[in-house]
Amino acid sequence: MFGPAKLWSFFANVNWSFSFMKALILVDIQNDFLPGGALPVPNGEAVIPVANNLQAVFPLVVATQDWHPADHGSFAGNHPGKKVFDQIELNGLPQTLWPKHCVQNTRGAEIAAALKQDRIARIFSKGTDKGIDSYSGLFDNGHRKSTGLGEWLGAQGVIEVFVCGLATDYCVKFTALDAAQMGFKTRFIEDASRGVNLRPDDVANAIAQMKRSGVKVAQSAELLVSK
Ligand SMILES: [Zn+2]
Repeated sequence: MFGPAKLWSFFANVNWSFSFMKALILVDIQNDFLPGGALPVPNGEAVIPVANNLQAVFPLVVATQDWHPADHGSFAGNHPGKKVFDQIELNGLPQTLWPKHCVQNTRGAEIAAALKQDRIARIFSKGTDKGIDSYSGLFDNGHRKSTGLGEWLGAQGVIEVFVCGLATDYCVKFTALDAAQMGFKTRFIEDASRGVNLRPDDVANAIAQMKRSGVKVAQSAELLVSK
């Protein structure tokens, strides 16, 4: 018989995390990408209050964290004769050289203190291999290794992700592109993100590229009212 006891045991064994169909991915909201940091994104601090408000309307929130060893290949200082923003080839991949940033266990690598963190279920680190950079929070730049984020979200029953943070034209863009490629319905939250704009059109081009890849653009206001 399928009586109350059986029914209870059925419900007790349901993985209720499957109700987490939407996830917010907060990309690299770390001290070094904020004013006063090693690689500040212009007006990067503006994403924090927006990201704090958004967290309340998502059942699942995760964050990514750029987390480099001091000898990381993306740092200009590790390439004698090269300077910041030079383009090189690193193990067969094009690489922009950056100032030393987000070195593991330093203050610059810490998630910004002003960002609410009590609802962040997990933080996924990236860029830990000195031989390859990782703009995306899901894979390194050569798609050689996964960070585990995409697989973990899938295991939670997530089908739709909302990506925001720093910086629009690098880590946010590549996180959104990889999420879409993995099959997640993906939205980029424009006003909860800021870009570097090394070239003046970089942010506009990043948004256009995301759109071409099936990523929809959202503003925080529409998400906050659709609760
Ligand atoms: Zn980095």
